Amino acid sequence: MSLVYVNGEFVDSEKASISVFDHGYLYGDGIFEGIRAYDGVIFKLDEHLKRLYSMAKALLIEMPITMDEMKEKVIEAVKINRLKDAYIRLVVSRGKGDLGLDPYKCPKPTVVIIADKITLYPETMYKNGLKIITSTYRRNSIQALDPQIKSLNYLNNILAKIEAVKAGYPEALLLNQEGYVAECTGDNIFIISNGILFTPPSAVGSLGGITRSTVIDIAKQLGIPFEEKFFSLFNVYTADECFLTGTAAEAIPVVEVDHRVIGDGVPGPITNKIIEEFRKVTSILGTKVY
Ligand code: PMP
Repeated sequence: MSLVYVNGEFVDSEKASISVFDHGYLYGDGIFEGIRAYDGVIFKLDEHLKRLYSMAKALLIEMPITMDEMKEKVIEAVKINRLKDAYIRLVVSRGKGDLGLDPYKCPKPTVVIIADKITLYPETMYKNGLKIITSTYRRNSIQALDPQIKSLNYLNNILAKIEAVKAGYPEALLLNQEGYVAECTGDNIFIISNGILFTPPSAVGSLGGITRSTVIDIAKQLGIPFEEKFFSLFNVYTADECFLTGTAAEAIPVVEVDHRVIGDGVPGPITNKIIEEFRKVTSILGTKVY
C-alpha cells in the first residue's frame, strides 16, 4: 500500500480520490511536475517547485500552499512511503467547480502528490540508443498554449506518442509550426555536430526542461561548446550524435531518426560522457530526504 497526498492529508492510494467536478478532470485545467529521487535525494526539487509555481502564476491558479509547505509535503511523501529511489508526480488542478468552463467557480485548487517508482526504458536502450520517428503532429503553438506549461492536457504529446507506438517506435519527435525541431513527447532533444552541442531554445515551443539545464551545465563543465539554436530535421539527420533528456527518461542516446542512421549508429562518445556525468550528479544535486 502506498500513501498519496490529497489536499492536505495522506490517504491510502487505493482510496485517494478527487471530485468528477474537478476542472482538472473536466477540462484539463491544471498543471503537473514529474520529479525523481535518487538514493534519498530529490533531484533539483527547488527548480521543479519554482517551475510549478511559475506555471500556476501564468495560469492564474492560486496555489493553496506556499512553496515551502509544498517542499515539506513532497519530502514527506517520499519518507512516508519509505522510498529512496522514486518518481514523484505533483498535480495541481483548478479544483472543483460546476460543469461550466468558468475557473472562477472553482474556489480551491486541488493538490495531489504521488510518490512511486518508474522505469521508462530498459537499460539496453541506454546502451544501444533509441530509434525514433518524427510525428506528423506539430507541437502546440506558443500562440495557442505555450509548451513551457506542463498542463493537464497532454493530448498533443499523446497523439504523437500513439503515432510512434503504432509505428513500432518508443518516442516521436515534434516540429513546431514553422518546421523547426521542438522536442519529443516527453523529452528535450540535443544534437552534436562537429563537436558542438545544440538544443533548441524554449522559444521554438518546447519545455524548459530541468534535465536539459543540468546537461547544459555538465557540457559547460566538460568544456563542450554549446549553443541554443533553431534547427531543422536536416540538422538532426546529419548530426554526429543525438540524445534526449527528461526526468523520466534521464539522458538517453538516439541512434536513428526517420530511418536515417545518426553518426555511426551507436551512442556517440560525447553523449556517453554526458550520460555518465549526469548519473554522477543525480544523487548530489537536490534535497536530502533522510
Ligand atoms: N518536454 C516535455 C514535453 C516533457 O513532458 C518533459 C518531461 N517533463 C520534458 C520535455 C523534460 O523536462 P524535464 O527534464 O524537466 O523533466
